[in-house]
Amino acid sequence: MSYEHLDARAQEFIGLYEFKKAAMLPILWLVQEDQGYVSLESEGWVAGQLDVTRTEVREVVSFYNMFHTAPVGKRELRICTSLPCLLRGSGEVMQAVQERLGIAPGETTANGEVTLTEVECLCACEMSPMGQLDEAFIGPLDDAATLDTLLQTALEDPQSSTPLPEPEPYITTDGPILSNRFKDPNGTWLEGYLADGGYQAAKKALTEMSREEVIDEVLQANLRGLGGAGFPAGRKWSFVPKNSEKPVYLVANADEGEPGTFKDRYIMERDPHALLEGMLIAAYAIGSHKAYVYIRGEYFRSAHRLQRAIDEAKAAGWLGKDIQGTGYDLEVVIHRGAGAYICGEETALLSSLEGGKGFPRLKPPFPAISGLFACPTIVNNVETLACVPYILKHGASQFAGIGTEHQGGTRLFCVSGHVNRPGVYEAPVSITLRELIEDCAQGVRDGNQLKAIIPGGISAKVLTADEVDVAMDFDALAEAGSMAGSGGVIVMDDTTCMVAALDNASRFYADESCGQCSPCREGTGWVHRILTRIMAGGGTLQDLEDLVAIADDMEGKTICVFADAAAWPVQSYIAKFRAEFEEFIHSGRSMVQETVGREEVANA
Ligand code: SF4
Repeated sequence: MSYEHLDARAQEFIGLYEFKKAAMLPILWLVQEDQGYVSLESEGWVAGQLDVTRTEVREVVSFYNMFHTAPVGKRELRICTSLPCLLRGSGEVMQAVQERLGIAPGETTANGEVTLTEVECLCACEMSPMGQLDEAFIGPLDDAATLDTLLQTALEDPQSSTPLPEPEPYITTDGPILSNRFKDPNGTWLEGYLADGGYQAAKKALTEMSREEVIDEVLQANLRGLGGAGFPAGRKWSFVPKNSEKPVYLVANADEGEPGTFKDRYIMERDPHALLEGMLIAAYAIGSHKAYVYIRGEYFRSAHRLQRAIDEAKAAGWLGKDIQGTGYDLEVVIHRGAGAYICGEETALLSSLEGGKGFPRLKPPFPAISGLFACPTIVNNVETLACVPYILKHGASQFAGIGTEHQGGTRLFCVSGHVNRPGVYEAPVSITLRELIEDCAQGVRDGNQLKAIIPGGISAKVLTADEVDVAMDFDALAEAGSMAGSGGVIVMDDTTCMVAALDNASRFYADESCGQCSPCREGTGWVHRILTRIMAGGGTLQDLEDLVAIADDMEGKTICVFADAAAWPVQSYIAKFRAEFEEFIHSGRSMVQETVGREEVANA
């Protein structure tokens, strides 16, 4: 097969990067979009374009789960079965989809139309149980009409298919900092953004402030990293060498992948210029003239909308050369991932951006000293960057005053699971978990009792119903023995089987470990195999001791914190719900009336 028709586009991608190999993922996407999959033959062409070996291409293709290595259907239907979707019935949805299509996950319908894929979290938990048909998210699929529409659309010829109905989840649109430009589901574009005072903060930074003054303002605002780590953003920026002889890079981490988290997508789709303005200010502060947005592969629409915003900003002189006549240049490039949770870890993200597997790196050196292409690099989360314009526009003290003593501002909290109104809620970080659940998300569904809460994405240690009066800032949740993490709050009511919930979480970690470190690679798989056996009725009490011992041996002994994140749920679920685990093992089945999926196994 000839690939000549792709040559020009491939060269365009290569031109966006400092090193050829960094164009690996865009060129692999190009091949897949052209042919439907990445064939062995095409890998040779990719290797030739990038001046790398075929082996280097192969190892990258095999690392990312969105690349197909064999022909698939004209359409791909992905059904999420991660914990937030499982809590709201994805088991039943998957069963209905399989019956209707007559295929199992990984298979394609006989007419070659649809390939069904079971996926880990698509980070659209506000519409769970949900799925994705090609580029479009759809949910909740426990609504029979919505599921019917999805399957009818999937089975139609792609050329004549009708658009899927737009999901209508609840999203805050009146928050003081981030969500007030979320009102239009079609997005706030440059004209509206400028009319709302947009880019004035960037202009102020570029024309009235030194780099040090910008960093100091962000420090005074107590802006913490909102991707999960909570590290003070201004302090991170200050680590970049002042007069670096190497180029300095800024990377927006838009690889939103923590199950239970779905906030950055709304920033990118409804207020993309807030992110771009934040990036412009941050890049100026650290002395960078080249920035990347690393966006998860499943976020097709976010990437489209962000590209539109970049094009608008460039055309209006807010990005590109000599921005607004200030002499300052900044180029922003979108880099799409391809389905690997670990790329949300900042050093894995950089490995991926350089065109390799998403392998985390040992720290030190920290990216601020040696990051992308071995140059000083700052990686900031989307929400973190989107807060920056507000800080410069309204002042550090106003931002700091909205939060707590050590964390300024608000957060976009994502609430999913067993609540009456899942959604995105912007609130000061001093809000309590109880207020988020009861006031924002309108309480636990069906009048059920609250049982457990994961307050900061699936990696956070679980809290019990009597621990909900904790504030949602980083420090308070750490004191409570958990973490604020990514702001993803997953609520479980008293119908939840905690064994099944942990089994589901353990599958996620076993699937997503990058495999570099033995404690993580072996530990996550081992934990999942034990829990699967317990779920099948073959558990022993010794299994609980083994699970805790394995988790303890994973913690703090690996290249990145993924292994710790995999250990924390095991430790906390068993510590706080041990009686339920023991009862399950004794009886061989769940002790709760209604389990969260795998009912057929648990009740066998
Ligand atoms: Fe990879 Fe796990 Fe090691 Fe992180 S801890 S580098 S995910 S094997």
